[in-house]
Amino acid sequence: MAKQEDLFKNVVSHAKEYGFIFPSSEVYDGLSAVYDYAQNGVELKKNIREYWWKSMVQMNENIVGLDAAILMHPTTWKASGHVDAFNDPLIDNKDSKKRYRADVLIEDYAEKLNQKAQKEIEKARTRFGDAFNEQEFVTTNARVMEYKAKERQILERMGRSLGNNDLEDVKALIEELEIACPESGSRNWTDVKQFNLMFGTKLGASAENAMDLYLRPETAQGIFVNFLNVQKSGRMKVPFGIAQTGKAFRNEIVARQFIFRMREFEQMEMQFFVRPGEEMQWYEHWKTTRLNWHLSLGLGKENYRFHDHEKLAHYANAAADIEFNFPFGFKELEGIHSRTDFDLKAHEQYSGRKLQYFDPELNENYVPYVVETSVGLDRMFLAVFATSLKEETLEDGSTRTVLKLPAVLAPTKAAVLPLVKKDGLPEISRKIIEDLKWDFNVAYDEKDAVGRRYRRQDALGTPFCITVDHQTIEDQTVTIRHRDTMKQDRVKIADLKSIIENEVSMKNWLMKM
Ligand code: ATP
Repeated sequence: MAKQEDLFKNVVSHAKEYGFIFPSSEVYDGLSAVYDYAQNGVELKKNIREYWWKSMVQMNENIVGLDAAILMHPTTWKASGHVDAFNDPLIDNKDSKKRYRADVLIEDYAEKLNQKAQKEIEKARTRFGDAFNEQEFVTTNARVMEYKAKERQILERMGRSLGNNDLEDVKALIEELEIACPESGSRNWTDVKQFNLMFGTKLGASAENAMDLYLRPETAQGIFVNFLNVQKSGRMKVPFGIAQTGKAFRNEIVARQFIFRMREFEQMEMQFFVRPGEEMQWYEHWKTTRLNWHLSLGLGKENYRFHDHEKLAHYANAAADIEFNFPFGFKELEGIHSRTDFDLKAHEQYSGRKLQYFDPELNENYVPYVVETSVGLDRMFLAVFATSLKEETLEDGSTRTVLKLPAVLAPTKAAVLPLVKKDGLPEISRKIIEDLKWDFNVAYDEKDAVGRRYRRQDALGTPFCITVDHQTIEDQTVTIRHRDTMKQDRVKIADLKSIIENEVSMKNWLMKM
């Protein structure tokens, strides 16, 4: 565990030291769970966004893009359920002054009961060996049955109380279970209060006339309210999709873990509109397609897993997460949800307008069903960045820090390095840059010994270093050094473009999907 924590600390400090991510407004000591993307971070983030956009919009004839505004008519959030149901029940411990999600405290307690039951089962498995029948044991062993029943009772009661908005009973449950604050150990709790995760703001100058607005907590609703506009103006036929990337805002309570959980973050969402009844087939299709997109980046199959939701959100009839093995364990990276016709129907009801599609093949009107894929751009960034950061011990016993980013996503594709700062080598280097910069982000570096410059580019994740030396003047060749293998080849300047292109082109990477 300590090792994992160290790894995560390295990720955060490397991101800062090499100009990927800074805390927001750091001169004022930062703003909690808000971050800025620096000169290299912004390139990596842009490349991830483009990799997603190309795979969704450019490669699919029936998916088009959209860039809806962050501010939307406030009724949108009534219809979507966010005003009434996007809440976390919170409770404060009066001694530690720490704030918790009441449901998480109770769920953690219930999970402990589950673990106790699990322990009994494992003990019995060892005792009985091959003869062990788990099904029978679970349904007959008094202790396991007691743990399980208690766990069920607690979760059911919590579900009921939250469902009825009976927050007094949620607090009573915490008190009955004698749940203590993990920090202070005390049971001195405040009442439970509902806390809406949406950020509010106001539209208009004078206080009386101002209209209460929200910063969007998800990009999806901008797609739903534009569904018919896009369908009609684009002459789209079901099934079709609308893709969008953009900022979303949530006033998260548990805001830790760097850019994993931010208050201002970016989503990449695609809503796919299908015939009612065909949603499960498309749901399976998008689960597979999205996993393949992730796998195409080569971060390792073992780092991904599906987690099917048992407890479904009010709008869904099936939902799964693609979880990624972050430095702090497997956590949600992307959600794939079969959202039924919930959103479009709700917008019909609240707006009084029809949001229906006339299907010429069936000769009927209907509200399409929706399958959504929703991935956090910042979480994608963290997954890619953390997995790529490696400490390597070299043959001579020295170590190097290398950011083995998928070359397609690297902020800078090549650095051009004159071996010395004289003899015309800087001029040739500049000329190479002039040629390459039309196609790639390239950097120039003449400071320090060439070995140190290589190390710096390794730490920045630059896939190629091109070194110009005295031989270059004679035969127009340079050495090209590969970041991951550190192998160096002598190649013609005229071939540089195609060598780099071959390793960084989105086409070559996306074709692995
Ligand atoms: P979680 O359970 O981790 O809070 P969620 O289930 O609320 O996430 P969704 O509403 O399904 O998340 O949002 C879709 C995606 O948006 C998530 O898979 C995640 O990648 C990203 N996301 C959600 N909340 C945040 C956040 N606070 N910071 C960064 N990314 C986020």
